[in-house]
Amino acid sequence: MGSGPPVRRTEDPVVGWKRAQLLVHPEPPHELRFAGPAEPAHVYRADDVFRCRRGHRRVELGCTCGFYAVDDRAALRPSVVRTVLLQVELEGRVVRHPQCVRGERQRVRAVSADGWCAFCVHPAEAVAGVRPLFGQLPGDWRYAAPVCGRDRALFDVVLSCDEVTAVLAADGVALAWDRERESAAALSLRRMGRARPRPAL
Ligand SMILES: [Zn+2]
Ligand SMILES: [Zn+2]
Repeated sequence: MGSGPPVRRTEDPVVGWKRAQLLVHPEPPHELRFAGPAEPAHVYRADDVFRCRRGHRRVELGCTCGFYAVDDRAALRPSVVRTVLLQVELEGRVVRHPQCVRGERQRVRAVSADGWCAFCVHPAEAVAGVRPLFGQLPGDWRYAAPVCGRDRALFDVVLSCDEVTAVLAADGVALAWDRERESAAALSLRRMGRARPRPAL
């Protein structure tokens, strides 16, 4: 047996999990794409094939190319930027590493997005296109941030939650708005409350 990471090519896709930033295009029909939290310049579609900076046409063992995912969603670390959770299928040549898998073709199957407004404690009713501050995204792509019925008025690019669901469904992606977890705004308010100095005894 070789000592390198196992590679396989299979008809059965490998199911994995990852985080991504959801992007929206400002021009109608407001396409949606994804970008990695660490490398937002690499924008990908719900169904896409990898591109290698070094020009590989196959995922190479000795390279870093390919779409990455983990087998167990519990192994995903929190991201410092706003992300959605993706369930993906990797196809073609798939390389298995101790911590992750990477493959040639990736199909996003399901997306779980924060169902709370990014700016307050209310439920999200839409997503707004937020311009990147430092030109991290190519072209005109904007970050899609969940917004409530009030805060959506602050933005010029807005898609309702139902519109986002429909756009992704057309690409075969099931979208869920997650309100099981506490709103980030509510959580930080609660933390601030808890951080109040305790009275001296
Ligand atoms: Zn490569
Ligand atoms: Zn709001």
